[in-house]
Amino acid sequence: MSDNRTAHRKLAPDGTKWCNYGQHFVPVAEFGGQSYCRECTRKYHAERRKRYYQDKVDRLRDLALKHYGDSCRFCGESREEALTFFPLDEGSGVFKTLIRLNGDGWPIDALTTICYNCKHVAESD
Ligand SMILES: [Zn+2]
Ligand SMILES: [Zn+2]
Repeated sequence: MSDNRTAHRKLAPDGTKWCNYGQHFVPVAEFGGQSYCRECTRKYHAERRKRYYQDKVDRLRDLALKHYGDSCRFCGESREEALTFFPLDEGSGVFKTLIRLNGDGWPIDALTTICYNCKHVAESD
């Protein structure tokens, strides 16, 4: 690791620093005291937020599947990646809804497990 850094320091063009996240040389001014350049620091935090959010959604989804059934109520589809819930808007609303239901102890019939296929059919009616 430190060997690597030394090598990169030696190779760094004048006035640049090695950004280990983006794996590129970036003008020193772009670092602002961080170990990653500004652009990559932004990306790094965005990635972390996304991962954190995704982990939480996944965990809540698992709980919801336990409470509302782990297969589509209409066609019996049981591949987890094909399942969603109804009514539930995809996007930022999912997280808030699942958090709220978790807090409320997953009230019976608050959601119905449905596959994307059946949901699509239901919504295009
Ligand atoms: Zn970078
Ligand atoms: Zn279905």
